[in-house]
Amino acid sequence: FFDVSRPPLQRLLAGEGKRMLRAVDGVSFSIPKGTTLSLVGESGCGKSTVARLVVGLYSPTRGSVIFDGRDLAEARADSTQRRRMQMIFQDPYASLNPRWRVRDIIAEPIRAFGLSKDKAEIEARVGQLLTQVGLSPLDGAKFPHEFSGGQRQRISIARALSSNPEFLVCDEPTSALDVSVQAQILNLMKDLQQRLGLTYLFISHNLAVVRQVSDRVGVMYLGRLVELAPAETLFETPRHPYTRALMEAIPDLDMTGRQRIPVGGEVPSPINPPSGCPFHPRCPLANDRCKAEIPAMMPARGTPQTLVACHAVEEGRDRMGAPLVEAV
Ligand code: SF4
Repeated sequence: FFDVSRPPLQRLLAGEGKRMLRAVDGVSFSIPKGTTLSLVGESGCGKSTVARLVVGLYSPTRGSVIFDGRDLAEARADSTQRRRMQMIFQDPYASLNPRWRVRDIIAEPIRAFGLSKDKAEIEARVGQLLTQVGLSPLDGAKFPHEFSGGQRQRISIARALSSNPEFLVCDEPTSALDVSVQAQILNLMKDLQQRLGLTYLFISHNLAVVRQVSDRVGVMYLGRLVELAPAETLFETPRHPYTRALMEAIPDLDMTGRQRIPVGGEVPSPINPPSGCPFHPRCPLANDRCKAEIPAMMPARGTPQTLVACHAVEEGRDRMGAPLVEAV
């Protein structure tokens, strides 16, 4: 985006060549207490940006994040509000300070939020948290490099829980782990949710993982939410052509009888998104309306619990369950 006839730095300092990139636009959802909403989509679809907006790491240019009735923008200075919402990151190698012992890593939020100053009390709480995530209280004396990836993610979870949060934003928490370890961490998270009444926003590109943990699933494409449905409804009857393409990409999913939609091409650049429906350059059901008009999220015909942004579904021409060759 720089004019090659002038030095890039000169142009940058002059403020030229700047363009607005809408990483996330028109995304709206709610998460009932004690449930899990997952956001899925390809890399760059904006799901991690949503996660960071929700916990206040980024500020939205428009719109708001309401947590327990309060706008987060107003509540950010309130440490109680921040304590109630924590984040678990993707990479347990990068998210733990390698120079700190595990007990200090876990104790840090307890001290930072002023939950206790008593050394013995903090030590007991750290031991309890380590036990809660399946580690030994003796592990507190070790450094992060002495643990496997799965154990480090358990430490990350213990640290996130140390401030007694009610809501956890989990950004690809298992994608850096082996499949067998992934299952253990997902089981741990489900167990903790039941025992502690936690609410999760779960970010993942892995639909098999999402199916395992979610009550509801939102599918994102190029910064927009394109489908939002109860997990079983979404996996049994995906409606948006992009969701159907994502399902198609899972090799071990039971696809018996499901209409298959081949989707080619690359995700367009968010700097220069397509007109109308952002999926239209790749969608086998696209028509002229799709190229001109951004579809709104609305209840889908046939599966009213599903909200979907697709003209074909609205017009009843998505031919749910019919062979693709007849639909296009
Ligand atoms: Fe395809 Fe049109 Fe639906 Fe977009 S609105 S997903 S282009 S059919």
